Amino acid sequence: MVRGRFAPSPSGRMHLGNVFTALLAWLSAKSQGGRIVLRVEDLDPARSRPEYTRALLRDFSWLGLRWDERAQDQSERGEVYARAVERLRAKGLIYPCFCSRDQLRAASAPHASDGRVIYDGRCSGLRVTADMLARPHCLRARAPDRTIAFTDGLQGPQAMNLRREWGDFIVRRADAAAAYQLAVVVDDAACGVTEVVRGRDLLSSTPVQLWLYETLGLPAPRFYHVPLLLAPDGRRLSKRDRDMNLDQLAAKWPPQRIVGLLAWKAGLTGRWEDASPDELLPLFSWEKVRAGDIVLDAEAWQ
Ligand code: GLU
Repeated sequence: MVRGRFAPSPSGRMHLGNVFTALLAWLSAKSQGGRIVLRVEDLDPARSRPEYTRALLRDFSWLGLRWDERAQDQSERGEVYARAVERLRAKGLIYPCFCSRDQLRAASAPHASDGRVIYDGRCSGLRVTADMLARPHCLRARAPDRTIAFTDGLQGPQAMNLRREWGDFIVRRADAAAAYQLAVVVDDAACGVTEVVRGRDLLSSTPVQLWLYETLGLPAPRFYHVPLLLAPDGRRLSKRDRDMNLDQLAAKWPPQRIVGLLAWKAGLTGRWEDASPDELLPLFSWEKVRAGDIVLDAEAWQ
């Protein structure tokens, strides 16, 4: 049985790009007779708000994107993540890191192609005392010197050397919240998710996550990384800039207009026609879906 998921972060109103991802996740699972699990990714206590959770549940329903099950919200799963960290620790893969944000920024560590700083591992050899552990610290996992290869269902073959191209990564933050990379793996496995459909900005995280699946002895899903939607000037849509969020969209268009725009931009239809997710089901195939990022033209932007 195919199981897909919606994994929204309630850190703002959804924008058109978030809806695009959700629509393709829904169409993929449903066109194979599968189910959709909704999981609210409210890991970050500073950015998540219950009113955004309520809004995104309303938005999915309004758009006709029904979920079949709702998983526990991530904010309730601290103990499950802590157990996963302990399993990594038992394998000698975890160490505490005391570097401050400023230290990390100043470090002359190499930068990954996407601008991320690759941690230079300076805390990995520390002799840690109980006194030190009273200071703020995060926990990092040791990235192995291994190339992880996989085939993305939309973007094709991918490969990354975890040590050189990603570096030791955070699994528990200094505020004790689990880090995204760990939580998403533990949760997708716990939900029995067989396919992950998400934005292309997360493609480079996937080798890290595949390594975590393997190391934790969990079955890995299949991945489809879908294009990002860009503003007419080439910028990525962002929740912070309130670009094309559901408030604005719902004020000018009914849900079929929005779904129809996204189906057309995805490559499922030849023009912008009103459609519901149900009406698109017979048209859906990953072979039709565009892989490259999509610039919204002035007609769609307005
Ligand atoms: N919660 C993430 C987001 O809203 C998605 C994470 C994922 O799909 O793996 O961007």
